[in-house]
Amino acid sequence: VSNMDVDVAIIGAGPSGAIAASLLRQQGHQVVVIEKQHFPRFSIGESLLPCCMQFLEQAGMLDAVNQAGFQFKNGAAFQHQGRYTTFDFTDKFTPGPGTTFQVQRADFDKLLADTAISQGVEIRFGHQVDAIDLTHNPRLTVTNDQGAQYQVNAKFVLDASGFGRVLPRLLNLEQPSNLPPRSAIFTHIEDNIRDPHFDRNKILISVHPQHKDIWYWLIPFSNNRCSIGVVAEPHLLEHLSGSLEQQLLAVINEEPELKKLLSNANIVQPCATLKGYSANVTTLATNKFALLGNAGEFLDPVFSSGVTIAMQSASMAVACLHKQLNGQTVDWDSEYSAPLMQGVNTFRTYVQAWYDGRFQDVIFYQQADNKIKQMICSILAGYAWDMSNPFVKESERRLNTIVELCQEPKPNVA
Ligand code: FAD
Repeated sequence: VSNMDVDVAIIGAGPSGAIAASLLRQQGHQVVVIEKQHFPRFSIGESLLPCCMQFLEQAGMLDAVNQAGFQFKNGAAFQHQGRYTTFDFTDKFTPGPGTTFQVQRADFDKLLADTAISQGVEIRFGHQVDAIDLTHNPRLTVTNDQGAQYQVNAKFVLDASGFGRVLPRLLNLEQPSNLPPRSAIFTHIEDNIRDPHFDRNKILISVHPQHKDIWYWLIPFSNNRCSIGVVAEPHLLEHLSGSLEQQLLAVINEEPELKKLLSNANIVQPCATLKGYSANVTTLATNKFALLGNAGEFLDPVFSSGVTIAMQSASMAVACLHKQLNGQTVDWDSEYSAPLMQGVNTFRTYVQAWYDGRFQDVIFYQQADNKIKQMICSILAGYAWDMSNPFVKESERRLNTIVELCQEPKPNVA
């Protein structure tokens, strides 16, 4: 295998890598994607947000996704102790797409990668990045499936390696998350849901009846199957015993609505677990590399923001990179890291408020003002970078104002 020279080397062919490669290719840059696995391969992260449809469109991938037969999604539903509430993503403050899909990521990620290839992108599957040398221009050491090693010399590297976190590990950029470690147990089921009120067009988030910081996702697919998972701090799951499957079934049975809904369900895939997935870094980008998606910071799965942040970061990084490759100077801190983090921090506000219960009070508040609900809906639909939304611009202050309103004691009606 011979060494190669490219403009941009991308590590990983998940959503952030595929979108970045496609956008760079459109602009005439020479790119190679190094992907250690062979697709299709399983990935968690199956409920998309409408905001990410914009990036699929930019990358010329929207038609392929629209035609793939994935489950239509138009919102999110939440339930806790008999209370049920929905957010309709088409009724939101920020302009832009209001619907999206719930996708089996093995198929979705392969579709994006195949579309990028059809646009002229080279993806090397079964090749793994093992080392990086930044002394001059970036140089990656890559090992293929047969054990052969070669070098890729690039003007710039995009790290789209997700939970692989290749550059944070190799360059010592890792920093602990400010969120406590949580774990998830999940699988796919044949759901056999017969309840006519069950809305397959929405992700259903159920809150544990006793512990408000244990929650479940139920993500319907288009083939009578769902993704199901539970998230909690590990000590709250310590009482569960047996195999992962037994633990998952036991904790589902602690939530009466979910238990009833899934009474005819069968597990069709081995259960899996992920622990301590929240992560952060000291540096998101320099003039030699940028971290995309999960390779940078990963917060929490509760608002399904992962793929949206991955695609948003790809689009922002490519805009900066296009400038730099054309000879202009880019200040990666102020032009990439800061604007990207502004949206990530908006999600952080809501993630923290979800777990301490404040945002759950807002979600289940029945008399919400419609304009305010639309602004919150925009964020849940992924539009966390829209600075014209007061709940983005001043997320903590605005959220606390509305929390007070929702928690106000009801006047006694004699
Ligand atoms: P990935 O999709 O992870 O792709 C990274 C690729 O890099 C992989 O294919 C991998 O093989 C490759 N790679 C890794 N190391 C190397 C290497 N050394 N060399 C070459 N290639 C390498 N997000 C949502 O949007 N919706 C959800 O409902 C959702 N649910 C989640 C539930 C849980 C429990 C968790 C933990 C996360 C969830 N997420 C969700 C987040 C989502 O999984 C990620 O944000 C998303 O997959 C990130 O995409 P990516 O392109 O950054 O990386």
